[in-house]
Amino acid sequence: MAIILDGKNLRDKILDNLSLELAKYAIKPKLVVILVGNDPASQVYVNNKRKMAVRVGMHSEVVNYQADVSEDELLDKINELNNDISVDAILVQLPLPAHINPNRVIAEISPFKDVDGFTPYNFSKLFCGAQPIVYPCTPRGILLLLREYGIEVEGKHAVVIGRSSIVGRPMAQMLLNKNATVTMCHSYTKNLEQITKTADILVSAVGKNIIKGEMLKNNSVVIDVGIFKDEYGKLRGDVDFDSSSKIASYISPVPGGVGPMTIASLMLNTVELYKLKNGIND
Ligand code: NAP
Repeated sequence: MAIILDGKNLRDKILDNLSLELAKYAIKPKLVVILVGNDPASQVYVNNKRKMAVRVGMHSEVVNYQADVSEDELLDKINELNNDISVDAILVQLPLPAHINPNRVIAEISPFKDVDGFTPYNFSKLFCGAQPIVYPCTPRGILLLLREYGIEVEGKHAVVIGRSSIVGRPMAQMLLNKNATVTMCHSYTKNLEQITKTADILVSAVGKNIIKGEMLKNNSVVIDVGIFKDEYGKLRGDVDFDSSSKIASYISPVPGGVGPMTIASLMLNTVELYKLKNGIND
């Protein structure tokens, strides 16, 4: 049976350490989250982020706009936050309504307050193999989880399913930068199973239950990023846990795997942006 990659436990360790660190320095970084509209899933994510920020001892503010807010109004707000010295980190909760261009909005965030690492400045650094100011939260969290369990990436064949800008693409790039041999798959990939069977490390970020145990290589490491509700309202991941945990050597559960690590990375990134701004190096 596979060992469970316990993201909740590691998140708690990371947050406890961060709390101690903030108390030691008597600092209180400030994270501002911009939420547009009233998508229930986004509201839950934003509430979680706020709760965790407060738990660590940070300032956390949510700026909530109606779904029909104009792109210009959002850009003005981001500019105001860029220039507000009390603000250390800015996050725009995605997705945005269809009339707003997310790329324009993200590009407006100062790279030094870009807590998700999604601005063109930070992304281009990552994709050139250089160090961005901070790394995107979900892939960062996954690499922290692998490191915690002593799982080496170098020289491994890593297969990433999903090519979104928030998970799949930066994940593949970060694995490549750590000297994995990376294959990316998406909805046009033919013979997915032939590829997944060769994966030493499989990261699935799709949002559909597509991975079964028989698609895995023996003793592989399986990271399930997907989160969705099935027809009974139950929270599910991309990976069929029962069949996969019999084949894999390590597996991340849903919930309790990647989700908590995304939040932990967000908190780490916020503190790093604060330290950078204030010239604290340790
Ligand atoms: P997304 O933008 O919808 O991307 C999904 C990707 O899956 C696309 O690249 C798509 O391919 C690919 N895909 C769809 N059907 C496929 C299939 N049958 N075979 C192979 N690839 C297929 O989603 P996302 O924002 O990356 O999120 C993915 C999942 O992760 C969602 O469930 C989301 O809720 C979850 N998520 C979790 C966390 C966390 O912290 N745990 C964070 C972010 C996202 P094409 O590009 O060809 O369309």
